[in-house]
Amino acid sequence: MSNLVDHLAELTGLRDRDVLDVTLVGALRDLLRPRSAAIYRVVGEAGDRRWMTRARLADGDVTAQTDSLYADLAGLPTVEDHGDRAACLQRQEAFTVDGTPARAYFPLANEFEATGVLELHTDAALRPEEVRLVCSILRIYRNFQGLLDYSERDTLTGLLNRKTFDESFLRVLGRSTAAEAEPTVRSSGDGRRMALQGSGRGTAWLGVIDIDHFKRVNDGHGHLIGDEVLLLLSRLMRSTFRFHDHLFRFGGEEFVVLMRCSHDSDASGAFERLRANVESFGFPQVGRITVSIGFSALRPDDTPSAAFERADKAVYWAKQNGRNQVAHFAELVVRGQLAEASVENKDAELF
Ligand code: GH3
Ligand code: MG
Ligand code: MG
Repeated sequence: MSNLVDHLAELTGLRDRDVLDVTLVGALRDLLRPRSAAIYRVVGEAGDRRWMTRARLADGDVTAQTDSLYADLAGLPTVEDHGDRAACLQRQEAFTVDGTPARAYFPLANEFEATGVLELHTDAALRPEEVRLVCSILRIYRNFQGLLDYSERDTLTGLLNRKTFDESFLRVLGRSTAAEAEPTVRSSGDGRRMALQGSGRGTAWLGVIDIDHFKRVNDGHGHLIGDEVLLLLSRLMRSTFRFHDHLFRFGGEEFVVLMRCSHDSDASGAFERLRANVESFGFPQVGRITVSIGFSALRPDDTPSAAFERADKAVYWAKQNGRNQVAHFAELVVRGQLAEASVENKDAELF
């Protein structure tokens, strides 16, 4: 019993969701001694949903296996590839399957949607009281995640709030001390599986998205309709960007994206896709809306404010030059349309 309480104390002492999944799997292994315990999350868009391994511990493993957050989606198994898991996700109920090994499936969900499945492989089928124990732990886990969401997410859109930006920035840049100091998250196994986030995989990017003439929406249709537009825009962002991209609402009608891409053209492509998706979306009552987007590559010694300012300048340029477009800071500098400017000096004044 005290073992269980210790595990719960550890679980609820964490704020890092990536480590949280690994810790949950580790706790279940210690408590139930299964052959393996794994958390799989659903990623990808409707029609092409896939399983991402968030944490998998087999008996005797010292470290959990995790798919790289930057894994190519096409290389991951499709939801249909694992029928029992898919059934658990769809039915949102726990069940066991006899066999060697015996298997048990538990649905994972948040306030809004089904998010994944916990799968246990055991020598003998789990007893009903063991199934109840896992369900209880998952309830605590879910409540705890709800509390994290409450403090880290914007209440209107569910996107991350500004408070969490600096920490995400360091992670995406690969300077996160949390990810580096966490030994249990290190990968084992084949080369496709890697440690959590970090540096060395492509370039990190920051984009700022600002709605064009949003004041007109509020003035013409009222704030409630304006808020509805913000909510719908956040949904378009979720469906445009990928599972591991960090999406923020910075307040008002300003949104920020942090992401890492292997190729530079992937970043501009993603922002352009969002611009086009917004332009072609029919917003109820309001009709057509457009956004201006500015983005910049992150630099090795970047600060959150310096990177934000570069992307914001690109937005400003887009606004001055017709709106409804994507502007790349470095390209504007090369073309002589923006000055690199004294970003460092500004930072010096701030601190
Ligand atoms: P621009 O194309 O230059 O961006 O024009 P704009 O009208 O969008 O100008 P700006 O970005 O400066 O305007 C921000 C407006 O967004 C002001 C305010 O009416 C509206 N706004 C800010 N926060 C909220 C919010 O939380 N809800 C709603 N409904 N409106 C908001
Ligand atoms: Mg604005
Ligand atoms: Mg605006």
